[in-house]
Amino acid sequence: MKIETKFEIGQIVYYVGFKYIKQTCECRACEGKGKVTLNMFTVGCPVCQGSKLEILSSKRDGIVKKDIIKAIQADVDSDNEISVEYDLTDNSCFNEIHLYASVEEAEQEIKIMESEE
Ligand SMILES: [Zn+2]
Repeated sequence: MKIETKFEIGQIVYYVGFKYIKQTCECRACEGKGKVTLNMFTVGCPVCQGSKLEILSSKRDGIVKKDIIKAIQADVDSDNEISVEYDLTDNSCFNEIHLYASVEEAEQEIKIMESEE
């Protein structure tokens, strides 16, 4: 059996990562104290979970990340279906459909994801 891989060990690849942008304000339920008093009992604020901040909105932005392939693992099941996974130097692991050879291809994927949201 011959297994073809899309990328090679040591090759630079790009993938889509996310950064989360949150807009917050002082929690209105506990007035920024992180605790509320109910019938003489003081409990952690159920709205902000004690963080004192209330989340007004949150959105995620796709960003292109760059890494190098450290190892390749191929799994072959009983139907001879091959699945190839790549280990990167940051210890993440991706199927080859989620890795790109250029920044442009990864940016294109972000555009597709954003248009689907
Ligand atoms: Zn609160």
